[in-house]
Amino acid sequence: MNSRFPSEETKPLWNFLSTPRKIVITTHHRPDGDAMGSSLGLYNYLVLKGHQVQVITPSEYPDFLHWLSGHENVLDFEKNPGESKKKLNESELIFCLDFNWLSRVEGLEPLLRASTVPKVLIDHHLKPENVFTYSFSYPDACSTCELIYQFIDSAGDADLLNQSIAESLYCGIMTDTNSFRYESMKADTHRIIAKLMEAGAVNYKVHEQVYDHSTENRLRLLGYSLKEKLTVLNDFKTAYISLSENELQMFNFKSGDTEGLVNYALSIEGVKMAAFFSERDGMTKISFRSKGDFSVQELSSKYFEGGGHKNASGGKSILSLESTVQKFLDILPFYKSKLNEN
Ligand code: 5GP
Ligand code: MN
Repeated sequence: MNSRFPSEETKPLWNFLSTPRKIVITTHHRPDGDAMGSSLGLYNYLVLKGHQVQVITPSEYPDFLHWLSGHENVLDFEKNPGESKKKLNESELIFCLDFNWLSRVEGLEPLLRASTVPKVLIDHHLKPENVFTYSFSYPDACSTCELIYQFIDSAGDADLLNQSIAESLYCGIMTDTNSFRYESMKADTHRIIAKLMEAGAVNYKVHEQVYDHSTENRLRLLGYSLKEKLTVLNDFKTAYISLSENELQMFNFKSGDTEGLVNYALSIEGVKMAAFFSERDGMTKISFRSKGDFSVQELSSKYFEGGGHKNASGGKSILSLESTVQKFLDILPFYKSKLNEN
């Protein structure tokens, strides 16, 4: 199982970590369950090993992840740029988790790019940028959390897993596989989940913390989106939802409130591609999901400055919400035959 972290590649890293170090862990903008789970899972492990560790997120992250152990020590770069810069400047090693292009950390990118200390990539997105000193890139992994488990295991430290580490890693595997249901969920991943439970992860509690933490506003926004804003294009086996800044504000939108919304559009029988467009901070953010061989990674990287995975990708556009949706509608005919393949 540890072929992803062979000793010839990890040895220099474990040697470097054999004495206490100052370490920064960072992840992508608007971190999700896997981003925070992998960052705090690794954080709790490295702290246990005696290192001084600082997790820096490029932005805030949803309330339903604020229970993760170590969350209170995370620095949000947008809120604390000075302190974040200081920690980055002091660090001797930087872990980059759950993203593979430095542009994914947005405002933090210049600082990260300027840093000359070794950078370790541990990630599962397609097509990584060639800037990392150590690059552990496995697009076939279901989540970065699965990779962090294997990374810790490669040091012979699986026995050190405690509840804090185990629940962080459980959280990311759960959220990135939509509760263990995607094709990426292998038998080995179930074996890792069993190990995490044995190490103290309380499975039903993690599910409750993440999925039963909605505000009334969030649920009403979901109802509004499905009743008023869902468009189904049967000819293209595509469904999409779009929400303007005003509409988000009507429901007092908070980070994470639209997480998973795109999956409802994908759950319609026969639909192969789903998209969710939202207007935020003067730009349009897009989430794409697909089933089977249709690659939303290809579509989002070609037309929407995005990327991700074959069946789950994101992108953005500086065009208005309406123009971005129109651009999407205009390119759909190019994909019609592919979407209608069996
Ligand atoms: P989500 O739709 O949940 O925001 O993102 C789906 C997947 O696409 C995630 O793995 C995420 O990291 C990736 N992703 C989301 N937005 C972007 C983007 O703007 N650029 C790239 N390269 N990947 C993205
Ligand atoms: Mn991930």
